[in-house]
Amino acid sequence: MPTDEEKCDLQNPCGHCEETWGNSKWFHVPCIRLNLHDIVTYRPGNARANQKRSTLPSLLWSLDFPQKRNISIAQDFLNVKRKDLPTFELECRRFVPRSSDTLYEPYEEHDGGAILIETPPYACSNATSSNTQSAFAGYLKKCEELAIEDLLEQIEDELLETTFFEVRRFASLHKESCVQQALQILAKVHIAKKQPLIVSEDTLDMGCIRSNKTEMNGKVPVPSVLDYQLDTLLMESCERDMDKVVTSLKSMMMVSRRKNWYEVFLTMVTLMYALEQVYNAQVRYNRKTEKAGAYFFTDVHNVSMYMMSQWRQSAKNLIYHFRVVIVGMLPFSERVAFSASAVSRMDSSALAYVNKMRTMLQDRRDEINKLCKNDLDNEQGRPLFWIAQLLVNT
Ligand SMILES: [Zn+2]
Repeated sequence: MPTDEEKCDLQNPCGHCEETWGNSKWFHVPCIRLNLHDIVTYRPGNARANQKRSTLPSLLWSLDFPQKRNISIAQDFLNVKRKDLPTFELECRRFVPRSSDTLYEPYEEHDGGAILIETPPYACSNATSSNTQSAFAGYLKKCEELAIEDLLEQIEDELLETTFFEVRRFASLHKESCVQQALQILAKVHIAKKQPLIVSEDTLDMGCIRSNKTEMNGKVPVPSVLDYQLDTLLMESCERDMDKVVTSLKSMMMVSRRKNWYEVFLTMVTLMYALEQVYNAQVRYNRKTEKAGAYFFTDVHNVSMYMMSQWRQSAKNLIYHFRVVIVGMLPFSERVAFSASAVSRMDSSALAYVNKMRTMLQDRRDEINKLCKNDLDNEQGRPLFWIAQLLVNT
């Protein structure tokens, strides 16, 4: 047995494991103990605000402008009319900006350019109050289903599309399941990508964006510090969900991995997809800021690199746990180790999903096997990179 000093890390196998497993493709689980509670599948920080883990800013409220202003915000979802969008009402106030408060917001244009909008120093005056927090939770609840619709609409890969239709079906049948909790995180990760817009008459003196080279054209964004506050509230909500889902996942794995494998599989696939979404978005963000020369702002770069390494570790953590739990049980290959349906919560739709996946995976065997032969670092943020590891018995 390896001693404590000599154990695998997430990068390299230790001497003992190397000797035991050699170059065998069966070396797939390092000997270190990993905790599922370390997994982060959402964006915990904000590179532009120089926060590795976002926290609500404490602002210096202006005494010259003490009046509160009430606004409504909403986020756009595909195929939903403006009047049908869920809204979130909140109370704002003017603050005295300090050097650490960002007061501009860049918007991308289709041709690769960007416009920089200066925003007035307004922010939510009671972001930490329990009223605001529960109103925000209610708003998110209303957005979740729309976000999942929106996401499914955007998925092009048939493997993913089939999988997330099944995830949604399972979650709606089993509302207390881990799958439902994981789907909530995925929904919030998707909501986080949507720019909050002011939809009330009072716009906090923000004008609408005028550039037909951006999809923000004609819309009124929220001021940047308010944007950061909303982003932080969303992150805190993901953090609470993550804690819940990992706790239930652990207890499910402890009770019976055979009985629960299907729910564990759907949960892990959903979490991994959320993880790929945030990771790949950050890879794109880095490329963009690098091109724009924003890497001169080393803080942005450092926070970004920190979060990316946290996500890579989370992906590995999830994959290694998956391999320990699911090994030999995935019925997507011909070699089905046992009658999966007999012992787990699988109905006829679940079996139909498994059969469809089996066919699709056989058709794309070369592509998936090639993806799985890579190391797990995924520096380029390639689609399906980590998820592929959950679809085959490695
Ligand atoms: Zn080892």
